[in-house]
Amino acid sequence: MMLAAVLAVATAGVIGVLWKRSRSTTPDPSRCDRCGKARVLLDEESEDPHLDEGQRHEERLGTADYHVWWCGACEHGAVIRHAMTATSRRVTCEKCGHDAVDEVSQTLSPATHVQGGEFVVRISCGSCGHKQRFWRYTPRVRAS
Ligand SMILES: [Zn+2]
Ligand SMILES: [Zn+2]
Repeated sequence: MMLAAVLAVATAGVIGVLWKRSRSTTPDPSRCDRCGKARVLLDEESEDPHLDEGQRHEERLGTADYHVWWCGACEHGAVIRHAMTATSRRVTCEKCGHDAVDEVSQTLSPATHVQGGEFVVRISCGSCGHKQRFWRYTPRVRAS
C-alpha cells in the first residue's frame, strides 16, 4: 500500500528531526554559532579589545588564559576561558589525602605564541593506588 509507505517515511522523518534536536550540541568555538562559518583564533594583541577588564586582569595575573574565536563574516566572537593550574601545586590523593607521587604529564598541545599549552596529567597514589587525571594549562609564549 502506497499510503503505508508514505506514512512510514513521514514518521521516520519526524523521528529524525526530533533526534537531531535532542542531541546536545557542544558549542565548538571554532565555528560561528550565528552563521556557521569558521572562526579564527585571535592573537594576543587583537583579542584584548574583546576581553573585559576582569578578564584582562586574570590574564596578567596568570590565573586564567582567554582565547577569543572571531567570526569575520558576522563580527561575532566567542571568549573561551582556560583556568591555570599553578605548576608548583602539590597534588594530593582525593581519596586518602596522601601526597601522590607518580605523576605523568602528557602534552596535548605545546604552548605557542597564539595558544597556551594543554597537558593531561595522570597521577597514581603511592598509598592507596587511586588514579586521578586532570588537565593543566600553561600560558602562551609571550613575544619578547
Ligand atoms: Zn558568523
Ligand atoms: Zn590515595
